[in-house]
Amino acid sequence: MTGNLKDYLSNYLNDTITKVTPVSGGDISTAYCITTKNNLYFLKTNGAPNAMAMFQKETHGLKYIAKTNTIKTPQVIACDNFEKEAFLLMEFIESKQAIREDYNALGEQLAQLHKCSAEHFGLIGNNFIGSLPQSNTTHASWVDFYTHERLVPQLQLAKQKGLIQDSECPPTAQIKEKLNPYFANIKPSLLHGDLWGGNYLISKAGDPYLIDPAVYFGHHEVDIAMTKLFGGFNTTFYESYHTYFPLEDNTSHRIKIYQLYYLLVHLNMFGSSYYSSVASILKKFSA
Ligand code: ADP
Repeated sequence: MTGNLKDYLSNYLNDTITKVTPVSGGDISTAYCITTKNNLYFLKTNGAPNAMAMFQKETHGLKYIAKTNTIKTPQVIACDNFEKEAFLLMEFIESKQAIREDYNALGEQLAQLHKCSAEHFGLIGNNFIGSLPQSNTTHASWVDFYTHERLVPQLQLAKQKGLIQDSECPPTAQIKEKLNPYFANIKPSLLHGDLWGGNYLISKAGDPYLIDPAVYFGHHEVDIAMTKLFGGFNTTFYESYHTYFPLEDNTSHRIKIYQLYYLLVHLNMFGSSYYSSVASILKKFSA
């Protein structure tokens, strides 16, 4: 972090910065814990051309979740540009290892978030999934939303990048046909949208916090699918969550379909190591 940015933030906060410590764990930005005389802050900086837009959407998502009063998110202090970089400054959540009670609270509060509904699937305004654009154009049908706004754009990007062959991509009509029987009676739920194990924190006081969201209204099982893709959530979390959203028929099949989106995103962001997982799920869509 440059001395100039440190001075700028000291001025902005009207507080002397006494320590700057790098924070690891993020995929996209450079992160720091900022200690001032009076407080702790979390800072992300990024010099990429779309960084400001990403931080603005992250701010919007954090505030959108916070407004539901179901689960906490860190309070955003500033989202701005300085010299050639964008930065996002927020409350620093001093966290601890989750214990049983914390997973219980996380499951319950995520379920309360998912009880927040809307008329349509999607959201006013697009956002990002990782560093990739995520379209939230609204649809009345979940099959239409999931096909046109989630699978098709990522499949097209993977083809453009030469990561999958044209012959491996099922035609759009065929995707819809395969999804139809599994996507009946689905209601829009407010989703975190990128709920892997690194995107929640448990504060020292035992409060769950969601971070780094990619919010929209979709099927609640999408967030559950992401929790199961890379791990980081235990059985107490699922027991607690399913008290509010009992398991339904064909959940395990849908979970795979929802994981396909995240695997395609990882393929497009990080490359061919995700190819075989993508290809094996895509086979389910072949005629
Ligand atoms: P990126 O956008 O680069 O993926 P993240 O938002 O995931 O970065 O943040 C990186 C890491 O920093 C997280 O995995 C988490 O451990 C930590 N972190 C994120 N937000 C906060 C916060 N408000 N307070 C404390 N630690 C945080």
